[in-house]
Amino acid sequence: PRYSRRYREAAAGGRPGYSGTMPVSLLGASEIRRLAADLDITPTKKLGQNFVVDANTVRKIVQAAKVVASDRVVEIGPGLGSLTLAILETGASVLAVEIDHRLAARLPDTAAAHGVPADRLSVIDADALQVRELPGSPEVLVANLPYNVSVPVLLHFLETFPFLQRGVVMVQAEVGERLAAPPGSKVYGAPSVKAAWYGPWRLAGTVSRQVFWPVPNVDSVLVGFERDAEPRGDEELRRRTFTIVDAAFQQRRKMLRQALSSVLGGSAAAASEALEAAGVDPTLRGEQLSIDDFVRIARG
Ligand code: SAM
Repeated sequence: PRYSRRYREAAAGGRPGYSGTMPVSLLGASEIRRLAADLDITPTKKLGQNFVVDANTVRKIVQAAKVVASDRVVEIGPGLGSLTLAILETGASVLAVEIDHRLAARLPDTAAAHGVPADRLSVIDADALQVRELPGSPEVLVANLPYNVSVPVLLHFLETFPFLQRGVVMVQAEVGERLAAPPGSKVYGAPSVKAAWYGPWRLAGTVSRQVFWPVPNVDSVLVGFERDAEPRGDEELRRRTFTIVDAAFQQRRKMLRQALSSVLGGSAAAASEALEAAGVDPTLRGEQLSIDDFVRIARG
């Protein structure tokens, strides 16, 4: 193949001052459909398969994630590779986790055909919920998440991979708003508190339905997170905090002294005492507490 000068310089490690950007080309809408037909893929709801067919959108996600050439990125659900190529376009390396064997097997060929050097992309053919190791310890998560498992996958990755420092993911609008919700807001719930255990979350943009194939019947948003420099506590404290959070939101209309009686001493009186000791009014409801409040209760 004929490589451009930019490619040769970048492949050789770049010249001083060179940004490291590789001449990677992105997938177009017609190529995506051709690839899918070639693989005999009919997108399934079960696997949340809505593929992005718009180059501006994948670039917008990568920009929101502030991916730079030195980043090691993990992508969950690369699909046919639209977002993967946009990440690789920055010069970053990608570790992609894909559950659909046909998609996982094809991705390296697609990347090579679009100018990506082989050592920039690794693919794990697996269910992201089951993955327990990520070679190379990537520090950035970028994904257009499968909607049916977006929150469990996010929490699994944050819990299992402490080297993940930051990320931007595309999720269903309701889920993104919930993840980024502050205490007291209508959509604040257990996922908001659990996500906040790891660090702050923010809404990072909206995405039109029209950029997907097939067009989904929900709106999408981008959400970003940054892991706190210091963890809030050890694994035992995290588990205890999450148990209390689950109990508080299972009965979200009840006062905490009632909702938490089963996990704080077995009675409303014992729960009230524990809550007061943590400086939390027992007549409040879970939706009014911050992650700090929940952690104080869990510390006991
Ligand atoms: N990143 C691609 C894009 O933006 O066009 C595809 C995104 S699509 C919303 C979600 C992808 O996640 C699909 O490729 C699907 O096969 C994959 N997927 C679904 N469940 C998964 C799981 N549990 N683990 C890993 N990948 C999964």
